Amino acid sequence: MFYFDKINGKKILKSDLIDNAFFTTREICICDKGVNNNLEVKNNINIIENYLGNNLISPTQTHSANIQIVKPLVKNYPDTDGLILIDNSQAIFLNFADCVPLIFYDKKQNIGAISHAGWRGTAQKIGELTVKKLIQKFNSNINDICAVIGPAICENCYEVGEEVYSVFNPTKTKQEPTLYDRKVRKLNLKEINRKQLAQIGIKKIDICPYCTCCDNEYFFSYRKEHGTTLRHSAILALI
Ligand SMILES: [Zn+2]
Repeated sequence: MFYFDKINGKKILKSDLIDNAFFTTREICICDKGVNNNLEVKNNINIIENYLGNNLISPTQTHSANIQIVKPLVKNYPDTDGLILIDNSQAIFLNFADCVPLIFYDKKQNIGAISHAGWRGTAQKIGELTVKKLIQKFNSNINDICAVIGPAICENCYEVGEEVYSVFNPTKTKQEPTLYDRKVRKLNLKEINRKQLAQIGIKKIDICPYCTCCDNEYFFSYRKEHGTTLRHSAILALI
């Protein structure tokens, strides 16, 4: 279940499934891709680092399916859309404005990950790839892994072109002429990700009811705000 909480009086969003993770809102933005020296962003990063007692690390996201493991003293993770955290002296965040944030946590081993699933990442099953890496590299048991699917664009707000639609529905466009004729093709990226994770055996999945467009007062939307450079973030720390 998702609920709003506050850090220093600023609204954040949490899921009760993973206590040591949360999402920022417009009130505590820590990413402005358009401005290098945004003072408010810097101040918000300080607030969150103080709250966590850890330094925050984030990768350079490129809509890839590349997944890296955070290493001590390494701050730069280029071309990376999945980041695995195994060291509780660090904390990680990834940034979003419509794409789907996926947070994973293995309670037993106290390790976790965040993935960035836009349509490209979802098509490449970045969530599944991240979980498989947790299992292969760190012996995680699928039964111990919880998944939180964060705020992202909803099906109603996410109309896509034939090219993107057919990636997820390769046969539907041909078999359903009504839909094809109307030329309205919509994708539910949160649900597609939920299904991918359920299929590999994750049982505990919390899916966020908020849409970045419909609930734009809380979150950023690349679509609704015509290419805004501001992002909300998914943050994970270990215990
Ligand atoms: Zn919506």
